[in-house]
This record gives sequence, structure tokens and C-alpha cells, in this order.
Amino acid sequence: MAAYNDDSILVLLDVTASGELAKSAAGLLGAAAGVGTPVALAVSDAPALAGAAAALGATSVLVATPGAGLTVPVVDALVAASALVRPDAILVSNSIEGREVAGRFAARTRSGLAVDAVGVSRDDEGVVAHHSVYGGAYNVDSAVTFGAPVITVRQGAVDARADAVASPVVEQLAVTPSGRKSATVVSVDEAVVSSSRPELRGAAKVVSGGRGLGSGEKFVLVEELADALGAAVGASRAAVDAGYVPYAHQVGQTGVSVSPQLYVALGISGAIQHKAGMQTAKTIVAINKDVDAPIFEIADFGVVGDLFTVVPQLISALDAKKK
Ligand code: FAD
Repeated sequence: MAAYNDDSILVLLDVTASGELAKSAAGLLGAAAGVGTPVALAVSDAPALAGAAAALGATSVLVATPGAGLTVPVVDALVAASALVRPDAILVSNSIEGREVAGRFAARTRSGLAVDAVGVSRDDEGVVAHHSVYGGAYNVDSAVTFGAPVITVRQGAVDARADAVASPVVEQLAVTPSGRKSATVVSVDEAVVSSSRPELRGAAKVVSGGRGLGSGEKFVLVEELADALGAAVGASRAAVDAGYVPYAHQVGQTGVSVSPQLYVALGISGAIQHKAGMQTAKTIVAINKDVDAPIFEIADFGVVGDLFTVVPQLISALDAKKK
């Protein structure tokens, strides 16, 4: 059995249905390396995962065989890994599954839970989580008073990357099933992704459209710019409520939170509930015909103009650059 450093940070890796590391792994391991020694936990049968995690900076990788059922076996594995490693903090992706695992784990182990962190650091007393709240209007820190904090980290929020580890310690983790009730997987139907665009959650670039697009037909312009940039498509709630695009595209307080490198807002006024989901984007570009639109208060680049004039020119310029 391997010995684990005193400053170990346990990272639960999200694994995709096809057995690959989710994109969140790089940011989680990068965040962990900034505050301690990253130890990854992969609950998967896929053999290549340990190598993939080491390439992203995991010094040790614990591999647990997935048990039958949803979520509970992952929590069981996290409990076993935490007892073995005795980490200073546990980092989990703020994905739908990650949030559920983190919540259940924290309740079961009586640990403090900090959700939707956009960064972590360390002070004299331990690991501190940083959050962007109230639509990005305030930055707050959270820390726990005892034990190791369980922190969910917003996908895409952490830019830091850890150096690859050439020869990681790989250990098969023995997990005792807790016997807690779990939803049972009866059959699996793979949903066929018909779009070649990146997924909104965790995308490096996002182009979003708002009520200013005027209709579902005209919303195609948002998709055309997204394709020219290789970006995911987002939307304001007004655009979703008007039926221009499905709810899965909604960015904001009651939609998806994104932290891309580039966020382009087309015909979006910049209500606080929208900003809550995108204000941590690294570069924000806004195109709006109203010079007083609040989105310009947070934009790095703003174009005051009619999006139906500006966006086609932008797409032509991007296409010309590719030739
Ligand atoms: P509008 O505010 O109507 O803005 C449209 C903008 O388009 C205007 O600024 C206008 O100048 C511009 N425009 C119009 N035509 C053109 C043109 N031809 N060229 C350029 N610009 C043009 N909203 C979210 O987005 N996400 C959420 O998750 C969310 N959650 C909410 C939760 C609660 C509890 C509540 C109360 C509200 C929530 N909202 C959310 C709604 C939010 O308050 C706003 O109503 C919404 O974001 C507005 O969307 P919009 O900017 O597309 O529309």
C-alpha cells in the first residue's frame, strides 16, 4: 500500500460514458497541484485512465471498480479513498454527477462542503475555496473549521495546469459497498450527439444569443458565429422562454454556469441573472445596439450596433482569416 503525502489533495475524476476522462480533469488536477500533491481517484474499468490522469499531473492514481448502481458506488469509493489518503481537501467537478457525489459524501462523512468554487488556495489553516457570487458582483472565500473541505470546482474556471507525472503510483482501491439504496442501471442507451459543436458546460468558447435575435429562425446567426469560432451555443433566458432554443442552452442563474476563455453575447442586455452564469469568462465580447446595456459594464470588447449588420461581417472576417 502506497504512503500518501501530508499535503495530499484527493481529486475525483469525472469519467465519460465512453470511459475517457472528462474535460474537467485538467482544471481539477491543476487546482490540486497549486495547493498540494494531487492524488486522483478514478471509478472506472477503463485501463487508460491512470495514464491520462498522470499526464494531467496526478502523482498517484487510485482505481476503483465501478459497482452496480448510480452515484452510491462512487461515494463508497470516495469514502474509501479519503480514509486511505487522509487528504487536506477533496476536489470534485461541479458537474451534475459531481455535485451529487460531493453532497452525499460530505453528509456521510460530516465534512464541510463548498460548492461552485472558481479557484482554491491555501492559508495557514488549510485549503480555502474562492467563489464568484451574486452575478459576479462579489468574490467570497470559504473554509471549513474542521476536517478536509469537500470543494466542487466550476468547469473551465481554473486555468492552471499541473506538470505531467512520468511514473505515477497506481493503486487498486478496495471498496466496501455501504449497502445504501441506489438507483439501479437497468439498461444504457447512448444518446447520439447530432451536433459537432462543443458542449456548453466546460466549453472554451461560447457564443450566446438573447431576445435581440428576434426569432428562432434568426437565432441561426448565433450558431453560424459559434461555428466560425468553434464555440458552443448559449442563450439568455428570454431567448429560451421565447422558444428560440431549448432550455439546455440557457446560461445564467437558473441555467448553466460557464467560465470560457471567450464569451460573445449577442443581443443580450446583461441582467444580473444572466451575468451570474458567465461573468467569470476570461474575455467578454458584447454586441448590442443599446449603448447603455448593462452587458457593456463587464465587456472587455463592446460593439454598439445592430447585430444583424455586425455579426455577418464578423463571420466573413473570420472565414477570410481561415483561407
Ligand atoms: P432583454 O433584456 O430583452 O435584452 C435584449 C437586448 O437585445 C437589449 O439589450 C437590446 O438592446 C438588444 N437588441 C435588440 N435588438 C438588437 C439588435 N438588432 N442588435 C443588437 N442588439 C439588439 N436570464 C438569463 O439569461 N439566465 C438565467 O438563468 C436567468 N434566470 C433568472 C432567474 C430569475 C429568478 C429571474 C427573475 C430572472 C432570470 N433571468 C435569467 C431573466 C433575466 O432577468 C432577464 O430577463 C434576461 O436575461 C433577459 O434576456 P435578454 O438579455 O436576452 O433580453
